[in-house]
Amino acid sequence: MGDWELVALRDAFFRLDGGSMFGVIPKVLWDRKKPADERNRIHLGLNCLLVKSPNWTALIEAGIGDKIAPADEDIYGLERETGLPAELAAEGLETDDIDFVILSHLHLDHCGWATVRDGDSYHPTFKQARYIIQKSEWQAAAKPDRRSRASYDSRNFEALQKGGVLHLVDGEHEVLPGIRVMHTGGHTWGHQIVVLESGDSRCVFLGDLVPTLAHFKTNWHMSWDLFPLELMAVKEGLLREAAERDDLLFFTHEDGEAFARAGILGEV
Ligand SMILES: [Zn+2]
Repeated sequence: MGDWELVALRDAFFRLDGGSMFGVIPKVLWDRKKPADERNRIHLGLNCLLVKSPNWTALIEAGIGDKIAPADEDIYGLERETGLPAELAAEGLETDDIDFVILSHLHLDHCGWATVRDGDSYHPTFKQARYIIQKSEWQAAAKPDRRSRASYDSRNFEALQKGGVLHLVDGEHEVLPGIRVMHTGGHTWGHQIVVLESGDSRCVFLGDLVPTLAHFKTNWHMSWDLFPLELMAVKEGLLREAAERDDLLFFTHEDGEAFARAGILGEV
């Protein structure tokens, strides 16, 4: 896209309960798009977006990582192939080559590789990077409400502050020329999306605002969303505009191709 190269990297595949993934939508409808397995789970990707420019390298999202307990790996049906560090290596990159890490939010399936284990403690994986997170998400993750507690694992983010890599932002923020984060809320208190613009082209990294292609319709959203009506309002406006402009969209949890053109996805 313009001067940049956008690369979809896949940390792993996993499975989540199909009912939870589609909130109030009946199974007879969602099962046609995302068929459930014998444990009612649907197959999902853990996709990260790498942006390479001549002057910097940015990573959006950090996968599920390697801190999941074996019992939970079974519940999540985790299928690792290469993993994010190996995917970066295949792109000729080491962890110290990443200049910016942008995290949509701090649920454990989005920031798993943000930190790595070092003896009894953890340190930032991307030591040279600036990690861009919404301040409201940081505060919510540090003191999670009881509904969200199981979705946060402090080992994934606590060390970012001590490591001096944490860069908290409040609302809309230009990370680099052409790369903006926008606070959306909806899914969590501090969920953000990333808008990439180069020349006439635009790509929107949707995070968990729209996790898969099957979530394109406004009322098809997850039961984990803390603020459904807020999410639906933001999503509707954003996807309508994206469809008009035929933006490139990036879907974090799609198990097939992570990119899609908004213009071909139909009615919101
Ligand atoms: Zn997620």
